[in-house]
Amino acid sequence: MTSPRRRVLVVEDEPTIADILMDYLRQSGFDADHSGDGRQALEAIRANPPDLVVLDIMLPGLDGMSVCREVRGFSAVPIVMVTARVDEIDRLLGLDLGADDYVCKPFSPREVVARVTAVLRRIGRDQGARSADPCRIEVDEAGQRISIDGQRLDLTPTEYRLLSLLASQPGRIYARAQILDLAYRHNEDVSDRTIDSHIKNIRKKIAAVSTDCDPIHSVYGVGYRFET
Ligand code: CA
Repeated sequence: MTSPRRRVLVVEDEPTIADILMDYLRQSGFDADHSGDGRQALEAIRANPPDLVVLDIMLPGLDGMSVCREVRGFSAVPIVMVTARVDEIDRLLGLDLGADDYVCKPFSPREVVARVTAVLRRIGRDQGARSADPCRIEVDEAGQRISIDGQRLDLTPTEYRLLSLLASQPGRIYARAQILDLAYRHNEDVSDRTIDSHIKNIRKKIAAVSTDCDPIHSVYGVGYRFET
């Protein structure tokens, strides 16, 4: 028995890019539909919900950010946003549109298909195996302590703030700039490398109490996400 092919809606107004993407998706075992306009895409998602949406930002009719926001009003369908500028990703994250991943143009179609597959796998796993979570995390705000699977982590105050921030919204991607704003004190001298090194230490401390649990994922070029 084979599972039904999953359907991806590609929302992109440049026909060449849309065609290449759809070819790759079909070759990789997906069904692919296309919409070249923001409003049409919104109607298509309402009328016949796809399994995932690849959503370009610059679109006629309604831009990708507005489409994403409106979709989140009625659907949790996974959304991979496509932007033409890598520096825009920080801004998009700040807007907290509810997208599941971001890809920057120019991309290779192979990369987009890999992201699509990864997002669907992640979401399928979350829905399928919540009960068998090897990373039961408990945050004790009053005592500024965090336990994984009942075992207390030996964290510095900064590590505590960082981990409790990430864990407060599982699945959400935090850009380094947001982490800096939210988890560090203003008078601290912090670079991206400092954040990376704190994350590295937290991962080591988690690994020391639980071998099956590695909940901090780095999102290439962007930042971090907590997900068990
Ligand atoms: Ca476009």
